[in-house]
Amino acid sequence: MAKISLLKCDDYNRVNSAVKESVHLLGGISSFIKPGEKILIKPNLLAPKEPSKAVTTHPEAVKAVIQLVKSAGATPIVGDSPGGAVRDIKNLWKVTGMEDICTREKVELVNFEAAGSKAFDIGDNNVKRVNFSNAVLNCDGIINVPKLKTHSLMAFTAGIKNLYGCVPGLMKVEYHKLASKNKDFAHLLANIYLFLKNKIRFTIIDGVLAMEGNGPSSGEIRRLNVIAASADTALLDAVMLTSLRRDISKSEIFKKLMISKKDTDGAEIIGNARQDFNFENFKFPSLRKLDLMPKPLIKILGKFLWVHPEINEDVCVKCMMCKKSCPANAIYKIESGYPRVEDKKCISCFCCHEMCPYKAVDFAKSFLAKIFIKED
Ligand code: SF4
Ligand code: SF4
Repeated sequence: MAKISLLKCDDYNRVNSAVKESVHLLGGISSFIKPGEKILIKPNLLAPKEPSKAVTTHPEAVKAVIQLVKSAGATPIVGDSPGGAVRDIKNLWKVTGMEDICTREKVELVNFEAAGSKAFDIGDNNVKRVNFSNAVLNCDGIINVPKLKTHSLMAFTAGIKNLYGCVPGLMKVEYHKLASKNKDFAHLLANIYLFLKNKIRFTIIDGVLAMEGNGPSSGEIRRLNVIAASADTALLDAVMLTSLRRDISKSEIFKKLMISKKDTDGAEIIGNARQDFNFENFKFPSLRKLDLMPKPLIKILGKFLWVHPEINEDVCVKCMMCKKSCPANAIYKIESGYPRVEDKKCISCFCCHEMCPYKAVDFAKSFLAKIFIKED
């Protein structure tokens, strides 16, 4: 079983040494990369947000990985496909700090959409063929550098969910529509992970400043002070989730990948011990409390237990990013210029909540949902 490295790091000025020490503990960069290889470093670049907002992987963590890859005699490139409706990739690179570090390190930043893509049957029941960017397909290996955050649909995003960014642009929105239920989307993510698994050399999670609450873009910053790494992305995610006191037996991703608490309990942790961190009282998205309810009860309560997005016009700036990100075409513009959600069409994927740059998408809940989903 692969080792899991956990290292304390409470400052991005010290993240360079923490990242390098993590990889050293796992066996050193030369055990993962050969000279002459082309290695894609894949951060989470969801949206054009400054590093201090904890929405994207911190550039200092990416810089440390770039330097490691170079030290192994390989060529690093850096890239990610942001949320589907983000069009200005150059602005995103600038705001997230990626342009600055890649210029200074003389490393190519790759536009996943411009690189073209190729479709594959990855054995998913809902999305018959999945497109991957050629930037992903044409590299020799991937180093996955996600941000640790909550996610309103999936509860949690780290190593596995970060790989969804290997699908270019608006195709992500399309696949969301085809795999709209929580279980179907979880299986799609698991299948994408399995398809890319042999290319992933290791995953290193930026959890120094993480995000809790209603992430992945509108949550609250939570200082976890952890850099976590492993050659086994799925086990690493599972260990982080259980460390944050989440029952992984309810996760459709881990059910599909057949990872249980027994695996996380038996994982070999190196570096710092779990108890060296303050993982207590981590707030998961309020909506995901529904996952913890018994399935038969959810079935019985069915249509009385709903949550839909609702636009907060006090905050909304009418940019229509939500409309462009909606896989179900459930958002339309009203005469005043504000967006409205057509509840009948809405598939409750919460992409609008994820992609709204102004935190203007709230959750409207039924009477019963209000009882079961109390905000912390
Ligand atoms: S809700 Fe958010 S994304 Fe939608 S128009 Fe308003 S500000 Fe833009
Ligand atoms: S309105 Fe929002 S939650 Fe509903 S389908 Fe569209 S993006 Fe998903």
